[in-house]
Order: sequence, then C-alpha cells, then structure tokens
Amino acid sequence: MSSQLNQDLLNFLKASPTPHHATQNLAQKLTSEGFDQLAEESTWSIGKGRYFIIRGASIIAVNLNPDSLTDTGLKMVGAHTDSPCLKVKPNPLIEGTDYQQIGVEVYGGVLLNPWFDRDLSLAGKVTYLNHASELRSTLIDLEAAVAVIPSLAIHLDREANAKRSINPQTDLPPIVGQSFSDFDELIKQGIKRQRPDAPADQVLAFDLSFYDINPPAYVGIHQEFIASARLDNLLSCFLAVEALLGASAENTLIVLNDHEEVGSASAVGADGSFLRDVLERLLGSPETRIRTLAKSLLISTDNAHGLHPNFTSKHDPLHGPLLNQGPVIKVNANQRYATDGDTHGFFKSLCQAHDIPHQVFVTRSDMGCGSTIGPITASKLGVKTLDVGLPTFGMHSIRELGGAKDPDYLQKALTAFFKVDGGIQVPAGD
Ligand code: ZN
Repeated sequence: MSSQLNQDLLNFLKASPTPHHATQNLAQKLTSEGFDQLAEESTWSIGKGRYFIIRGASIIAVNLNPDSLTDTGLKMVGAHTDSPCLKVKPNPLIEGTDYQQIGVEVYGGVLLNPWFDRDLSLAGKVTYLNHASELRSTLIDLEAAVAVIPSLAIHLDREANAKRSINPQTDLPPIVGQSFSDFDELIKQGIKRQRPDAPADQVLAFDLSFYDINPPAYVGIHQEFIASARLDNLLSCFLAVEALLGASAENTLIVLNDHEEVGSASAVGADGSFLRDVLERLLGSPETRIRTLAKSLLISTDNAHGLHPNFTSKHDPLHGPLLNQGPVIKVNANQRYATDGDTHGFFKSLCQAHDIPHQVFVTRSDMGCGSTIGPITASKLGVKTLDVGLPTFGMHSIRELGGAKDPDYLQKALTAFFKVDGGIQVPAGD
C-alpha cells in the first residue's frame, strides 16, 4: 500500500540512522511548518503559539493556547527516538595485523543474530576542536558501507542452527579493513562532509553507532509490508509529528524521548525531568498545571508484537495482533503498560467513531511483559495514560517488519485524538 504518508515515512527512516538525526529531521519539519524553537536556557514569554524544545536527542512540540488550558487539558502523544544498536567504544580501533576491527557496546536489547553479514555504516554525534581550538559538535553520517560482521561458516560450527550463542565482546567487533589505522581521520572526513566550512582539528569524543545501509522498502506480493531498521520506535515518532501537524489543534503536545531502550533514566529520558520542566514553564502556576493535567490524556505510542505465524504459541490465543489490522491497545495488569479500563474504552470509542480498525494485546500469563515510556511518564506526571502501538515482527532486529496499511490507521487515530473538542471524555463513573 504505497501512499505519500508511507513514502515520507520511508524517507524519514532512511535519513534518521540515530536518535540525534531523527530529532534534527523532526525539528526541521516543525520549523518548516511554522513552529518556533524555545531554548531551555532562555527566558520564555509564552503566549498562544506553536513551539518546540530540544534536549539532547529528545524533543517536545506543542500547539499552545494558555487561555483555555484548564478547560481543554492537554492532549499528548509520546514515543521514543532511540533504537537498540551497536555503539562504538571510546578507544575503538582493534589493530590486528591482518584485519582491523571496531570495538562495540550493545545498546539496549539488541537481537544480535541479524547484525551478521550486513553492510554497515556509521553515524552519530561527534565532539571536536576546530582549527581555532573552539569546542564544537556536529552530526555525521558516513553513508557508505564501511564495516561488516561476517558469520562463522556452518562448516566451522555444525551446531550453528541448533544452538548458536553470541559473545558480544568477542564475536561482534565489525571488520573495517586490512590496512586501516586512523579512526579519527575517518571521523574527520565525516565532519568535513557535514561542515565543509568548519573542519575538525582534533576529534575529542563521539556518540556513534553502526547501522545497516540497506534502505527501508516495501515487501510482499502486493507490497503489504514495510521493512526497515528502527521501526521501533521512529514509526511512532514520525506519526506523532504528522498527527500534530495534520490536526493543527490547540493544546496538543508530543514528547519524543531518547534512552527508552536502556530504561529511560537519564536527563533526556522519560524518567528524567524534561517533560515536567517544560510543562512547569508552559502551564504556569502549580494550580493551573495540576488542573490542566487532571483534564489531560497521554497516548504513549510504541510498537506491539504481531502474532508471528511460525510462533503462534508465543501469544495468548485471544490477544494476537495482526499486521495491517490497525493500532494495538496494550494492556498489562502489573502496569508494564499504563492503559486502564477508562483509557482503553476512550481509545476504542475514538477508533469506532472514525472507522479505524483496532486490536488489543495482553501477554501470555506465563511470560514476562515488555514496557515503554507510558507507565514512566504517567507516574512522573500523574496523568491519565494509555499505551498503543502498531504491530510488527522482529522487534529489536536490525530489520523489522510492519504493515503498510497501519501507519495510516494510527495517524488517523492520533489526529482524531488531537482534534477532540474541549476536554477528553474519559468516563468519570456513575
Ligand atoms: Zn520501543
């Protein structure tokens, strides 16, 4: 199902190999649509308007009308900008005599097997001194395939298909060449391409990760699916921004946090102070803030596990979401998801009113359950929250699979949410 929305999504996924790139691309989009950036270190004189704020690789955007906040509350959508990946170690070069390799750390819950035999490039943020000895940082993306982690041949490991395990320290370092000795020079070339006017004199430090250069693509006889890296959770980030812009409604907000895949506890993560700090400044007095939040709702969007036809026993028989059947409402009695009956019912009625297919996910009772930013943000702010997301296969693989119809369904649902007139009708009880 080819559409402009999907094409824009594929372009965004390709152009966003790291959370920093994703944040920069979304900020550019917001700026081009008339949003003004607010710097956290500046004095804010906030009136009715559209704003965005960046902290690290996290971003908040808001369409604000302070006069009606306590009547309407805030309609908020959350997602996360980071994805599991392999990050370059600070002293990266492993200088063997025959091959040179790069030491990597595993970021988040990476599904490691699919990283073998991929054409890998490097991207991220670099901190350096320019020729005037000024401290600078910039984003780089080498774009070319500069590294690979070759599999061990099956002849050398006859058990590979039955019980292969991966040691992240010894089995993962990607090979970058046979006569490579200057990692800093490689990075300097990346900086020069990005900033031809301000080349680097000395590379000081970096936050770089490997990514697969294979671009996002449609897959399936009728192009039913979208295959890409980082669908978790750039898919939701992209749709949140599209819905915010499409709805163009007052007192709507999106918050996209880095560091979800490693627990969210950081200055920029959902367990940090970013959203709370911004809301304190946007909403004014504690009285106004608490009254506004009491009328607000957060939809936390993060992908769900589709029912895999080869592994149906991994799902509860009555809760197996299907690709291309719309957003999945995620429920967990132990608050791994923040959805409760009221917020679940609200989202269901919203989807029904707009003819949007929807599904529900609960994990098997004999299996553990993942989590996301929903419960964390709910507990930080005390705001009503529900967790939803699009069903995918291969979550945390280097290439994940989603349904080509689903982005449109979730975008419609989020747009309808943003456009709800006045306060959110989550039933108060009889
Ligand atoms: Zn996620």
